[in-house]
Amino acid sequence: MTLASNITEFKCRVCGKQIQFDPKDPSSYLSKSEHEDFFGMKLTTFRIAHDSKDERHYNTVIVDQAGFFRGHRDAYTEPINELKPSFDREYWVFHEEGPTIEKTHNVALAVLISRSDRWVIDIVCPRNLNASHIATLVVDRVEEAWRVYDSIPRPLDMRVADMEMKVWSSESRVLCVCFTNGSLMKSIDSVAEHIVNERDGSIIPRRRNLNVIFRILESDSNLDPSILSRIINEDMLFATLHTPYEDRIPSIVERTASRYPIAGELLGPLLRGYITLIEALEGDFSSRYKEVFELIDFVNRRRILG
Ligand SMILES: [Zn+2]
Repeated sequence: MTLASNITEFKCRVCGKQIQFDPKDPSSYLSKSEHEDFFGMKLTTFRIAHDSKDERHYNTVIVDQAGFFRGHRDAYTEPINELKPSFDREYWVFHEEGPTIEKTHNVALAVLISRSDRWVIDIVCPRNLNASHIATLVVDRVEEAWRVYDSIPRPLDMRVADMEMKVWSSESRVLCVCFTNGSLMKSIDSVAEHIVNERDGSIIPRRRNLNVIFRILESDSNLDPSILSRIINEDMLFATLHTPYEDRIPSIVERTASRYPIAGELLGPLLRGYITLIEALEGDFSSRYKEVFELIDFVNRRRILG
């Protein structure tokens, strides 16, 4: 083995620059978390930063046991210099590949705001709205309400511009939603606490995961909290799989599909690395999310690919 084989390479998702780091050298990354076996692979998540002019780009990437890049969990930008005083009320909007959802049937706007880290994620947000300004206005009112009430109403009703909002807040985060009707109010109310209280030591919010949650709620308003937390926290959803046993794929798919019919459609493209689980959940499989998670658990439990 040459020294170069220890180096993992990927493209910065913010600026496109080729980035290298050594998974065995802790000084080349910011943080690392190892995961349980997933589809026969041993995957690890790393967070890596590099500077570009007056910005710092963070990439969170998934790497397999051989040091190969398997996918991006997220990427974002932070200003390097202290924000100038005149900007101290600004919230920065997360850079994410792919468009935000502009509107769903039942939700006209949904943004998640960090009060301490001053970011905002536009989960569902029409193009003509400024998420950073919404964040400033909403947090001002949340702070006002926290001063006024001993125990803050959950959700708190507020009006910003001409929008009626429902707002859930914790010490660190604020979730703000405008509904087009009442049909999702109850289910979002039941998941909102999980979203604003999420504390897994990571400051990284994940717009794609939150998007998936809002998509699923459109088709099934009874999203189980345990699946909700898996959607928020499982980095594996972003990994591109590539099984070494290419010739075994058809028989694996056939056998698995006899128990889990969804395998017939999903497992082949997944094992060949044509689609990731997050892409499946973002697309046609969002309404079949329970079957998707049953399939994941079955493959891992039975060590079909181990
Ligand atoms: Zn970059």
